[in-house]
Amino acid sequence: MPILNRIADFAPEMAEWRRHLHRNPEIGFDCHATAAFVAERLRQFGVDEVHEGIAQTGIVAIVEGRSSGPTIGLRADMDALPMQEETGLAHASRVNGRMHACGHDGHTAMLLGAARYLAETRKFAGRAALIFQPAEESGGGAGVMVDEGVLDRFDIAQVYALHNAPGMAEGTFATSPGPLMAAVDTFEIDVVGRGGHGAMPHETVDPIMPAVAIVQAIQTILSRNHRNDQDLVISVTQIHSGSADNIVPDRAWICGTVRTFSEDVQRMVMSRIEEIVAGQAAAFGATAKLDYQVGYPATYNDPGRTRFAAEVAREVAGDERVDDESGREMGAEDFSYMLRARPGAYLFLGQGDGAGLHNPRYEFNDAVAPVGATFFARLVERALPMSSGR
Ligand SMILES: [Zn+2]
Ligand SMILES: [Zn+2]
Repeated sequence: MPILNRIADFAPEMAEWRRHLHRNPEIGFDCHATAAFVAERLRQFGVDEVHEGIAQTGIVAIVEGRSSGPTIGLRADMDALPMQEETGLAHASRVNGRMHACGHDGHTAMLLGAARYLAETRKFAGRAALIFQPAEESGGGAGVMVDEGVLDRFDIAQVYALHNAPGMAEGTFATSPGPLMAAVDTFEIDVVGRGGHGAMPHETVDPIMPAVAIVQAIQTILSRNHRNDQDLVISVTQIHSGSADNIVPDRAWICGTVRTFSEDVQRMVMSRIEEIVAGQAAAFGATAKLDYQVGYPATYNDPGRTRFAAEVAREVAGDERVDDESGREMGAEDFSYMLRARPGAYLFLGQGDGAGLHNPRYEFNDAVAPVGATFFARLVERALPMSSGR
């Protein structure tokens, strides 16, 4: 079965909702206008309950099926990015320095589409919990919603989410059982020496030397302390020091990102960076302080739920248009907090050609919104089938 007819009927409206959100991007937890727009639509659709103000601007809406049964959670993220849009489109961002460059406007529109269909038809036995979250890009809004108890409060048994994927053929799906996306940590290192005249370095403690030694030594964690380079990335992404050609500075500042799939590897990297920072700084007579921040955990797809979600995707997109062994990638996603608390699956939905995510020319492809909405709707209907003798 391709796109549900009823969803195809209102696809132009989904594109309008998406473009409205695109024009009015909001960042982090500050998704007040977005949440108000979503809540207003949900009430128009006649969903049974709309709970606002979860994780500040998150929403959980409940649609009851025709009889009782478990609750399936479907999640969309609502936040945009702090960057300047360069698409030149009529519906481009009206806010300077903010842009929906990750397609969360599309995710929100697709889940609204599913909500409308589910509220109109209710061909399932149980409940659908539609989760609209703020702060995916930073702040871990999904983790905050879990900490605030949404999964228990609404008795959510399983959770599912989609992310659009530019560069993947339009309307195709990709996912993988088990680890799908990496855990993301960040580190900052403040190296402290004693500055002075650039012509008299012997009278200074130059912080640049230990900083460079630290950056180089950090790269040996991957080549000398770790077994398999398929599941670890360590990138030093910033190094700042100094202000003039004839001054030895007082300090140097380094930061970077660590991507892992297992907590053992994560612990190993953490302690090796700590040892390297202390040892290299001491070797040059400087001191250094490490601030290692553990971020989003790895995104883990429950194998059984992933098989089921891939079956639903095949029904919607066609057999040959679903890759259910696409493998892991080093990106990160805060839906991992929900998948850590409940079994479920995360899938990618192909956007076709176009600029990549977080690019100033990125644009969500409205043509795939009905595919995503149909996927969500059929997932609920198939996970919660009505008894045959009704
Ligand atoms: Zn993003
Ligand atoms: Zn995103």
